[in-house]
Amino acid sequence: MTQRFIPVADLRYPHATPFVPAQPEAANGLLSDKLARPLRDLRISVTDRCNFRCVYCMPKEIFDKDYAYLPHQSLLSFEEITRITKIFIAHGVEKIRLTGGEPLLRKNIEKLIEMLASLTTLNGKPLDLTMTTNGSLLAKKAQSLKDAGLKRVTVSLDSLDETTFQRMNDVDFPVSDVLNGIDVAHAVGLESIKVNMVVKAGVNDQEIVPMARYFKDKPVILRFIEYMDVGASNGWKMDEVIPSAEVIRRIHAIMPLKEIEPNYTGETAARWAYADGVGEVGVISSVTQAFCSDCNRARLSTEGKLFTCLFATAGHDLRALLRDNYTDEQIIGAVSHIWKQRDDRYSELRTSQTNDHAQPIRKVEMSYIGG
Ligand code: SAM
Ligand code: SF4
Ligand code: SF4
Repeated sequence: MTQRFIPVADLRYPHATPFVPAQPEAANGLLSDKLARPLRDLRISVTDRCNFRCVYCMPKEIFDKDYAYLPHQSLLSFEEITRITKIFIAHGVEKIRLTGGEPLLRKNIEKLIEMLASLTTLNGKPLDLTMTTNGSLLAKKAQSLKDAGLKRVTVSLDSLDETTFQRMNDVDFPVSDVLNGIDVAHAVGLESIKVNMVVKAGVNDQEIVPMARYFKDKPVILRFIEYMDVGASNGWKMDEVIPSAEVIRRIHAIMPLKEIEPNYTGETAARWAYADGVGEVGVISSVTQAFCSDCNRARLSTEGKLFTCLFATAGHDLRALLRDNYTDEQIIGAVSHIWKQRDDRYSELRTSQTNDHAQPIRKVEMSYIGG
């Protein structure tokens, strides 16, 4: 007799089994949370594993050889991810970002991309399908990702200086391989390539201007991200954050900048163009200028828990519904119920006491929930 194995949910984080309404309302794309924010963007973590140990995300002391990653059967399968994506599209989601952990470590990720690339939004347009990657495997995989239907890619890169970069990724990974990955991504036709640099004071802030200079006339938009107090393992302190205003000030002093209009409402990055007309940079001020009021993003963890905020402490176990034979209509109803209750605005409420180590709150790790 074959036994059906239903793994228990990861007990490191509290979770709730979603409420399934007896008579679920049909989705119409107009779902709105308690702060009148729609649901447009779904970030899906496809693995909790990574080949880097970035000091601000997966510090080695915690993510060591004994760290218990999720077993394979706990992960959502590609079929399950595709089914959930369709459910979110019914609620108006137009943009999907694959993330992790390092998404390119998920075996046969191209297969998932192919499955998602065939989906269309409620308006019949192709999904805006993108991925955030550390770039380590990009040179090898860019062509197959593009062939599978990936449109865009965001690459994380924190420094051009070898010593600083290796100090941040903490596995001695060389800068040149990531830069090569970016070049190959461009060469195979991946569009609007972005490079994200997390700035940590005293660690890589001296790299702000060299990074800006390097990418200025490349077909890439560099974005500076304020170091955030995400997760519970990076020991975040406010004085390690370089405010975006300071980033802009430093670049502007050497290469003048002017602020330009966002591409769309809810864009997380503020845009600054170089005054000489060549190139632009973005700044994502998650700490100093919270953008919760426009936040239309939901996050799906590697094992199928829905988080309504990057700083949430508990997720809603959608995998339990998928594996317990609930219908799409019922899961649509459950998601609707969750989103209608949503009132998250952590970054707007953040104070310097947030990470009071005397009374820490168990925030979920970014490598698990996805960035
Ligand atoms: N491994 C992939 C990568 O690094 O691009 C995808 C996952 S990573 C968690 C997604 C993004 O989150 C990366 O751009 C990373 O730099 C950013 N990130 C991680 N921890 C952060 C923190 N504490 N503050 C700000 N950004 C962070
Ligand atoms: Fe890995 Fe990305 Fe986290 Fe760095 S930021 S440890 S590359 S998941
Ligand atoms: Fe959205 Fe939460 Fe970030 Fe605010 S803190 S922008 S609600 S994810």
